[in-house]
Amino acid sequence: MAMVRDGFPAAEGLVTGPVHVLRWGVPEVPHQTIPEGQVEEEVARFHEVREWAKGRTREVRKATAERLGTMEARIFEPQLLMLDDQEVVDGTVRYIRENRLSAARAFDWRMLELQAIWMRTGNPMVLDRLNDLEDLQVRVLYRLLGQPEPGDLGALGEPVVIVARNLSPSLTVQMDPERILGIATDEGTRTSHWAILARSLAIPSVVGLVDISRVARDGQEAILDGRVGRVVLDPDDRDRETYRQRKVRLKEWEREVELTSKLDAVTKDGHPVALRANVDLPAEVEKARQQGAEGIGLFRTEFLVVGRSSMPEEEEQYQAYRQAAEAFPDGAVVIRTYDLGGDKFPMFLQMTREENPFLGWRAIRVCLDRLDLFRPQLRAILRATVHGDVRIMLPLVNDVEEVLRVRELLGEEEETLKKQGQPFYSGYKVGILIETPAAALDAVELARHCDFFSIGTNDLVQYTLAVDRTNAQLARFYNPFHPSVVRQLHQIARVARGAGIEVSVCGEMAANPLGAYLLLGLDIYSLSVPWPSLAESRKVIREFRVEEARTQARKALAAPTTRDVTDCLVEGVGSSVDLSAFSGRWSLSVQ
Ligand code: PEP
Ligand code: MG
Repeated sequence: MAMVRDGFPAAEGLVTGPVHVLRWGVPEVPHQTIPEGQVEEEVARFHEVREWAKGRTREVRKATAERLGTMEARIFEPQLLMLDDQEVVDGTVRYIRENRLSAARAFDWRMLELQAIWMRTGNPMVLDRLNDLEDLQVRVLYRLLGQPEPGDLGALGEPVVIVARNLSPSLTVQMDPERILGIATDEGTRTSHWAILARSLAIPSVVGLVDISRVARDGQEAILDGRVGRVVLDPDDRDRETYRQRKVRLKEWEREVELTSKLDAVTKDGHPVALRANVDLPAEVEKARQQGAEGIGLFRTEFLVVGRSSMPEEEEQYQAYRQAAEAFPDGAVVIRTYDLGGDKFPMFLQMTREENPFLGWRAIRVCLDRLDLFRPQLRAILRATVHGDVRIMLPLVNDVEEVLRVRELLGEEEETLKKQGQPFYSGYKVGILIETPAAALDAVELARHCDFFSIGTNDLVQYTLAVDRTNAQLARFYNPFHPSVVRQLHQIARVARGAGIEVSVCGEMAANPLGAYLLLGLDIYSLSVPWPSLAESRKVIREFRVEEARTQARKALAAPTTRDVTDCLVEGVGSSVDLSAFSGRWSLSVQ
C-alpha cells in the first residue's frame, strides 16, 4: 500500500524514481587504548589526519566554488575553522595523552562532548551547524580508522531518489542532478547547508520527514514533490496518475509563467503592485534583478554573521549593501538589521542557552544590547544610502521605545560619519517588521515613528497561534488564514493607510496565490516574495481583479474558521487561477 509522508519543501521539483537509501553517518569507533610509548606517535597521527582533512575540505570548497559560486563555497569555512579550533584540537590531544586513547576514540569523544553542549540549545540553526560538524567528523574518523568513507554515489546504475537520515554539504555538492532525481531526509531544514546546495544544484528535496530513512527500502518506487514537501512510497495507480497529471500541469504552468515574465505586476483591473524580492545572500540580488523584481523588499543580513568566527567589518557590509542598491537604481532596497537569536546563532556572540529561543534574546533585542555589533551595521547602511533608495527595517519590534532608541543611535552614527567625511543621504526611511501581535495591536503608536511597515507573516503567524514555525509535527496548525491573523492584517493595513505610510508583506504568504489575493483584497499593494517566486507571483497578480479580491476579503474577515477563510479565498482565486499547480501549497509550512 502507498505510504505518504509530509515534510518541508526544501528544493522545488516533482520527480519519480527508485529509492536509494544512503547510510551515511558517523562510524562506530572501538574503545581502544595505546601503550604509553606510542602516545606521541598517536598525537602526530591525529595532526596528520587533521592536515589531510583540511586539504580535502579545501578541495571540496574549490570544486564548489567552480561549480556553484564562491558564496556557496563559503559553506565549508566553518569546517576548516573547526579543524583548527582549540576546543576540538586540544581536547582530543588531551584525551590521547592523559587517557592513552587511540586518536579515533579521543576525537570521537571530544566531538560527542561538544555536540552535547551545542545540542542543549535545541534550536534548528545550531542543529544545522552540527550537521556540518558531522560532515567533518565522518571524514576524520574514517581516515583515522583506515576505512573508506561511506556515501560513494559513483557506483549507482540508474538515476535514483536518495533517502537518508540527513545529508552533508560535501556529499551533496558532489551529486550529479542527472543521476540524483531527488532527496528525502528525516532531519534537516530549508536552511541546512546541504539543502542550500541542493537548491543551487536544482535537485528537488524534501526535509523533516521524521522516519523516511527507516521505512524506505532500496529499489522501492517513490514520488517526491519538492514544491509541497511530500513523498509517496510505493505509489498505487491512482497516485501515479495524479503525479502524471500534476507534472503536465506544472509544465504548462511554467510555460504560462514564462510568457508573463517580462510584463508588469499589475492586476487585471489596472492596480499596479510593487513586487519586490526577499534575498538571503548578496549573490541573489542579481538573480532578483534578472527576474524583474522592483526592488529588494527584505534583505536578510544574517549571512554576514552566522557561521563566522568574528564580527563582520563595516566595509564588507557597506560593499554588500551598496551592490544591492546599485542593482536597483529605481527601486527600494530594504535592509533588515540583524535578526539573530531564535534560530540563528553566530559563534562569536556566545549566546547562552534559553528555554524558548523564539521568545528570547532575539533580533532588535540583541542589536540594542550589542551596540558593538549594531553600530557598524547602521553606519554601513547609512553609507549605502547615497547609492539608491536604501531603507532600514527593524525586526521583531514590540515597542515604540525600540524605534526611538534606534533613531537616536542613527543620529549618533550620522555624526560619526560626518566627522569622518563619509557621505550619506539624510532623507532615508526607517521602518519596522510587524511580526508580533503586540506590534499589530500597537500599530497606531508605532506608525507615528515609522516611515513604513512590512508585515513578517512567518513570525506573526507563529506568535499569534503559538505554533513553532520550525516544528514539522505542528505544520498542520501553522496557517496564515486563521481568522486572528486575517484580522490583524486588516488592522495593520488600515492603520498604515491612515498614517500615510507604505505597508507591505514579506512573509511567505505573499508568494502564495491565496495569500496574495487576500492581501490585495485588504488593499496591500506591496509584496515581497522569495526571489525564485517572482515570476509566478507576477503571473498570479496579473490574473486578479482587486474589486473581486476586496469582496472575498470582506467575506474572509467575517469568516469564523480557518477553513471558511480558505474557502472564501479559493472561491475568489479559483475563477481566475487554476490552483491545481499549487495544490497543498496553502498549508504554507514555513521553516
Ligand atoms: C517573517 O517573519 O515573516 C520574515 C519575513 O522574516 P523571517 O522569515 O526572516 O523571520
Ligand atoms: Mg521574522
